Amino acid sequence: MSDSTKYIFVTGGVTSSLGKGILAASLAKLLQLRGYSTTIQKFDPYINIDPGTLNPYEHGECYVTDDGAETDLDLGHYERFLNVPTSQANNVTTGRIYETVIRKERMGDYKGKTVQVIPHITDEIKQRFRQLSENQRFDIIITELGGTVGDIESLPYIEAMRQFRYEHGPEHCLVIHLTLVPYLQAAGELKTKPTQHSVKMLLQSGVQPDILVCRTEHPIPDDLRAKLASFCNVRLNSVIENINASTIYEVPFLLHKENLDVVTLNKLELPLLQDPDLSKWERFVHRLQQPSGMVRIGLVGKYVELHDSYLSISEALKIAGAHNDLGVDLQWIHSEDVTEENAEALLGNLNGILVAPGFGERGIDGKIVSARFARERKIPYLGICLGMQIAVIEFGRNVLGLSEANSTEFAPQTPEPVINKMEEQKAITQMGGTMRLGAYECKVKRNSRIHKAYLQTHIMERHRHRYEFNNDFRKAYEEAGMVMSGINPKSDLVEVIELADHPFFIGTQFHPEYKSTVETPHPLFLAFINAAYKHKKHNKQAAKSVNALKES
Ligand code: GLN
Repeated sequence: MSDSTKYIFVTGGVTSSLGKGILAASLAKLLQLRGYSTTIQKFDPYINIDPGTLNPYEHGECYVTDDGAETDLDLGHYERFLNVPTSQANNVTTGRIYETVIRKERMGDYKGKTVQVIPHITDEIKQRFRQLSENQRFDIIITELGGTVGDIESLPYIEAMRQFRYEHGPEHCLVIHLTLVPYLQAAGELKTKPTQHSVKMLLQSGVQPDILVCRTEHPIPDDLRAKLASFCNVRLNSVIENINASTIYEVPFLLHKENLDVVTLNKLELPLLQDPDLSKWERFVHRLQQPSGMVRIGLVGKYVELHDSYLSISEALKIAGAHNDLGVDLQWIHSEDVTEENAEALLGNLNGILVAPGFGERGIDGKIVSARFARERKIPYLGICLGMQIAVIEFGRNVLGLSEANSTEFAPQTPEPVINKMEEQKAITQMGGTMRLGAYECKVKRNSRIHKAYLQTHIMERHRHRYEFNNDFRKAYEEAGMVMSGINPKSDLVEVIELADHPFFIGTQFHPEYKSTVETPHPLFLAFINAAYKHKKHNKQAAKSVNALKES
């Protein structure tokens, strides 16, 4: 461990969903802009080894890192804000902690001791708090503790944090508590009691928070700040208002205005270094909020009721929009709702169609209809992972005349398995962590659409799937006009397909959304938004000409 590393813990009180991830990411951004190497990790209190086996309805999107970890979606926020990749070590769950401890016990590592939550589980947690600094030097490591203070399952983490702080001293280890200051309409007042209770709960576990960050819908007046400070035992300057923002990307500014970065560094006894230069972010947020034009993109998926299921995709679209000075009017389209009959009504006014990743058979037909509609109507199409496989199935059925073209995921016995399980996947029966995961190289065909987007011939993108394009059908597809424009140079797997006679029809076996960040918008999303805007303008032009003809 490097002794000089400073640690910040972010805990949550009162209720879940207050935005600990955004708070951690925003603070990290400010510290990074001041010149500190900063990283963030997330500790989740559930017993799953990782969120890879969780239904997206339960926990939102599963985010994938370069090293193939299936992680919590907050890691996506960390990467989008910090523009620095995370890894397996940045996400720890209770399941993983226990797995390690139980494995050690079986190896006899505990030398006959009774293995207990304290000290064995808490020791393992503390070791993981430090782990990131073992391979790389960081000035500051921010640890977000999932869950809410008071949850039974959070207790070992709070206790480990207490011990850690005691061992390192408060100038090396800071606790920030995020709470809610609700507004009671009937009383016309902001209320501090929930925060007081939540801090008491932390105190019962032996932890006095250093800084209170208060989520609120209204500005917190000075007298209320003073009350919060006094009842919760924090300095007045350490009561930080975290008012509702119109976009999460505004939060770093708001917290900077509240001096959160200065208070934090003072408490950690670190110099302020330079003022954070937020000008680039300011420009980005300005374009996000007041774009010059709009594009309407339909996201066709089966988990659309919970927008978090497609968090990285929707953020990548917004970010690419802002960089093109365009707002994205995102239409969430349930794949089960789309049929041949209503396709025109549901999809006809879109400037771009994105068919989302997914697993299992539900909603497949609607996705196939959507891909066909985009292909035939020349609407820009981006198919991600399953969205690429869908495009292949659709093309097989409707262009090549392979009436039974399918993926063996949905029709294991199909005579036309255009999408097939990868060879190395066939013998695997265990579910968790066994897909093709993480970053793989892809060779890009010169002068293809994706080449024009990436301006590179070798790219690295992240994967999460078990099925692939079946190369037995490659020749037939190529002869009919599908271009295999991205190939894995080692395995010869098809990673990208596109259509030669379409303005923008691309399917990627990988997930470009995971690598889109505020400072580095993803080239494929930029190109897709651009194509959508062109399509919109072209359609307007065409409509004008038709009207002119009618009138003449
Ligand atoms: N279900 C498909 C597969 O496993 C696609 C996965 C995805 O969209 N992430 O190959």
